[in-house]
Amino acid sequence: MIITDEEVENKEIVRKYRRLLRHAKPFLKDGDAKLIKKAFNTSMEAHKGMRRRSGEPYIYHPLEVAMIAVDEIGLGTTSIISAILHDVVEDTEFEIEDIEREFGPKIAKIIDGLTKISGVFEYGTSAQAENFRKMLLTLSEDVRVILIKLADRLHNMRTLSSLPRNKQLRIASETIYLYAPLAHRLGLYAIKTEMEDLYLKYAENEVYNEIEEKMAANKPIRDRFIKRFIAPIQEELSAQNFRFKIKGRPKSVYSVWNKMKTQNIPFEEVYDLFAVRIILESAPEHEKAACWQVYSIVTDFYKPNPDRLRDWISTPKSNGYESLHTTVMSRTGLWVEVQIRTSRMDEIAEKGYAAHWKYKDMPSKYKASVESGLEEWIGRVRDMLEQNDTNAIEFVDDFRSNLFNEEVFVFTPKGDLKILPNGAKALDFAFDIHSEVGAHCIGAKVNQKLVPLNHTLKNGDQVEILTSTKQKPSEDWLRFVETSKAKSKIKDLLKTERKVVIAQGKEIVLRKLKQMKINPTDEVFNQIRAYFDANTKNELFYKVGNGDIDHKEIKRFREVQEKRKAEISPKVQDAQTFEKQLTKATGVSRDMLLIGEDMDIIDYTFAKCCNPIPGDDVFGFVTVNEGIKVHRTGCPNAIELMSRHGHRVIKAKWTSQKKVAFLAGVKLIGTDRIGIINDVTTIISNELKVNMRSISIDTDSGIFEGRIMLYVNDTIHLELLINKLRKVNGIVKVIRFDTKE
Ligand code: MN
Repeated sequence: MIITDEEVENKEIVRKYRRLLRHAKPFLKDGDAKLIKKAFNTSMEAHKGMRRRSGEPYIYHPLEVAMIAVDEIGLGTTSIISAILHDVVEDTEFEIEDIEREFGPKIAKIIDGLTKISGVFEYGTSAQAENFRKMLLTLSEDVRVILIKLADRLHNMRTLSSLPRNKQLRIASETIYLYAPLAHRLGLYAIKTEMEDLYLKYAENEVYNEIEEKMAANKPIRDRFIKRFIAPIQEELSAQNFRFKIKGRPKSVYSVWNKMKTQNIPFEEVYDLFAVRIILESAPEHEKAACWQVYSIVTDFYKPNPDRLRDWISTPKSNGYESLHTTVMSRTGLWVEVQIRTSRMDEIAEKGYAAHWKYKDMPSKYKASVESGLEEWIGRVRDMLEQNDTNAIEFVDDFRSNLFNEEVFVFTPKGDLKILPNGAKALDFAFDIHSEVGAHCIGAKVNQKLVPLNHTLKNGDQVEILTSTKQKPSEDWLRFVETSKAKSKIKDLLKTERKVVIAQGKEIVLRKLKQMKINPTDEVFNQIRAYFDANTKNELFYKVGNGDIDHKEIKRFREVQEKRKAEISPKVQDAQTFEKQLTKATGVSRDMLLIGEDMDIIDYTFAKCCNPIPGDDVFGFVTVNEGIKVHRTGCPNAIELMSRHGHRVIKAKWTSQKKVAFLAGVKLIGTDRIGIINDVTTIISNELKVNMRSISIDTDSGIFEGRIMLYVNDTIHLELLINKLRKVNGIVKVIRFDTKE
């Protein structure tokens, strides 16, 4: 039971509301405060008596979301009101019409974009994807929908601790899969970073704590280093009358973790744990010159790495990011990244899109390109949405892969600039010009040289597309194009063509059946499908239409059909049916797979991508054809599985294990010496009595790298083994590896 004190709570509500008004004050115009008050009262009324999972009054949440919108994104009155009301339509009796009547069409539209699609999709495969797509549809009309959604998501992540574990995992995965990249794309670095850290905190709590502790332990050393590093720069900048701040920015826990993972190194080997940031006060017209002047001062003291100079002031990133980056060699032999920018650029870097409006009146020639970059991106999202009628999951995937890409700048023959995602091919360029040009593209001339369709474009390329009326889109094209626009267009074109083939195939099948004097009932079609291994009727027609199935073969389905009457056992398809089956099999109601105990009643196997062993944090995933697979929560595939197929994720935990052996991989690195392999294998097989399945050793100019697959009982057992191996003379590194590489 939750004990509440209404008086204390009401005081807290008023405090939160006043704080919101206080922070919003600089943006408010006449009458705005009154409207905000009205929204607050409406929301209070609507959420009356409702509580969050944590036991707090519900109204805390919309007030906090509005606060994030003001403080951390820099949004104004319309957004504050929308944030206060954002859950009203979804969770209470209020209808969108009520909002429109009370607050006007603009706010109603935003709230509608924030309200989830309900009913039909609730338990389908693509509920999240459909909702996301809907949100994006509104984004192309009003970007504030996404910004408020990001604020909403951030507050939900901040208060994730009161939710049950499976919900935590689902929400956290969805956040890292879509919302963090989206925040990144809109230039909201602070929010993106916090989302990533919170993701890690919930998905891999131990890892998170470990890195956080190590970073904290390192802090005094780091601070001392930074102090020494910046001292001469500071002195010189002051001597030259700059107004400035210098900060040593620690890397986020998530990015340290990411580096450890992608480069397969321990914490101690991540060297760039921080960057130095110099923030200048400068008049708008002198910004660029001032930044380069500071660059010159920095590189007078420290040698720069010529490959690591990034000038995002002359050409800002299309999410609005402006900054000058260089990496220089410190006196202790450590590379240090130095970021140079003005306070205006810094605010935009932290708060992103919305911060631009604050500088809207600034007469700057760069600003135009920044805004058009964002407009262009939003335009591209709009295009994607308009063209795309493929299913929502596919759409979200395409969209997401586009979020991560940095851009490449290329030119038309007339010198017009086109911005495409990095890795874009000549064919992407063709589709970017026009879908007809793309559909008939046979190749291109890049900088006057003839290149194939799949040629990757580079910055500054000038591209001329060559077409032929005889050209037709092919399935192959999908394998190399990068942009969603090209992808969805090609899919559309192929689909149209497929329809023609299907119609032809259908005609053939019907004709054959008529010759055989068989009525074309659904049952008959099912039998033919089963015989030819086609999943749908259309697939069958398609295969016949394009000749994959010889039409003379069609009548043979009868012969085999008799032999095929094997009983089909009911299969588990998702978490819901799993629960039912489990409850039936065990006689008690439960929703968690107990690994070990349930061995006899439920079929499950261990995923090969991450080889879980007892002690690992795990979940079950219901696959389409291979039953339940158990994955580690830290599996490289986990994020995708949980965010895209949340309804197929089931809770799982280890129970008392009989001595069963699990396959795990260990990687060893060391200096090569005679007898080292013998020492390693002796420890493994004699001392610890562990069975090896495979061992592969590479040596290269004195460096020894071994990969061993072996059977262990659990994480403790594995840890013990790793610790023993670390002590072998000549071994420098021993780590567990996930995937079978
Ligand atoms: Mn909410």
